Amino acid sequence: MVSQIADIYHNLITELPAHVVLVAVSKTKSADEIMELYNCGHLTFGESKAQEMAAKYEALPKDIQWHMVGHLQTNKVKYIAPFVKLIHSVDSFKLLKTINKEALKNERIIDCLLQIHIADEETKFGMDFSEAMDIFESEEFRELKNIRIRGLMGMATFTDDVQKIRKEFKQLRFDFNMMKKNFFHDDDNFNQRSMGMSDDWAVAIGEGSTMVRIGSSLFGKRNT
Ligand SMILES: *Cc1c(COP(=O)(O)O)cnc(C)c1O
Repeated sequence: MVSQIADIYHNLITELPAHVVLVAVSKTKSADEIMELYNCGHLTFGESKAQEMAAKYEALPKDIQWHMVGHLQTNKVKYIAPFVKLIHSVDSFKLLKTINKEALKNERIIDCLLQIHIADEETKFGMDFSEAMDIFESEEFRELKNIRIRGLMGMATFTDDVQKIRKEFKQLRFDFNMMKKNFFHDDDNFNQRSMGMSDDWAVAIGEGSTMVRIGSSLFGKRNT
């Protein structure tokens, strides 16, 4: 019997362009639910809490690639530094420096995206374009050898106004292009735009998303 998650998953991946990475956001979901997708051949999962991710890493197959998508406190970086595949939510220079330090301890290079604030809401984390540019311009940034900046992440305003969402994703794409031109012109690793969730991933792909982070429309509503 094919599970419901498997059905939804297969429908979703046929709709996604081949170059777009699907991050299945499994926060609050059980190991069994994650295994249903894993058994479909899916290996990329996203979590928003460091300790929850670390516990799932311990319990589940080691070929799963864990992406941190939620706000990360500096004192929690140590829990995920040994294994995390990509941190989408770097929202301060302080956090980036901590990730570098913990990566060094683990003799790793950790891939990171800077989270840029594109939404109206005050509540969403992220830095401004100018803050990110200041980081890239700094001497200190160039000394961070154990992180690699792979691109940007952004979350659109929670609204039914598709034009507004589109405009915000366009802004992230524009910011990405400016940074690419000014700082990452020769760096092929700077190539990711993480944008789009359950309700807005199609709009995001239309605006050049390379990674969508989808939770509730895959796994069903979260148990809170
Ligand atoms: C929870 C979460 C998602 C997934 O949200 P859905 O609407 O359930 O798809 C994506 N990105 C981030 C940063 C999240 O915290």
